[in-house]
Amino acid sequence: MSLKTYWTTQTEIALNSWTSEFWQSGRDNQLAIACCTSCGLHRLPPLPYCKSCLCKEIEWRSYEGELTLYSFTLCAHPEGGQYAPALVEAGGADNVRLIGNLIDMNPEDIQIGMKLTIEWLPIANGYKYPAFKKA
Ligand SMILES: [Zn+2]
Repeated sequence: MSLKTYWTTQTEIALNSWTSEFWQSGRDNQLAIACCTSCGLHRLPPLPYCKSCLCKEIEWRSYEGELTLYSFTLCAHPEGGQYAPALVEAGGADNVRLIGNLIDMNPEDIQIGMKLTIEWLPIANGYKYPAFKKA
């Protein structure tokens, strides 16, 4: 059985000054990752200080580089079927990792290191949530 996500168009997210740009970009099907304005290190989630140079400032950059499956788990949904929350690595962005569900694949086809593409699925209020499928 093909994996799916259990987010719905009723799922709501909480926005704040640290995450708003990520979600706004997702509305346009764009992945945005925060970067340190001083040394350029990518920060996701955008922590208050850069772990390299301690700079507080960030800027958001659109990311269209490679996405690779770093880790995942298979979960059984109480209503039937399975879903697979995953950690996905953005290799061209200092290997920051995103969390999202794997979709449109069978559990036996999942391989650590496989290349993925992002798909933004609609949730409440016009926002979208990132899911990942085989590249
Ligand atoms: Zn920095």
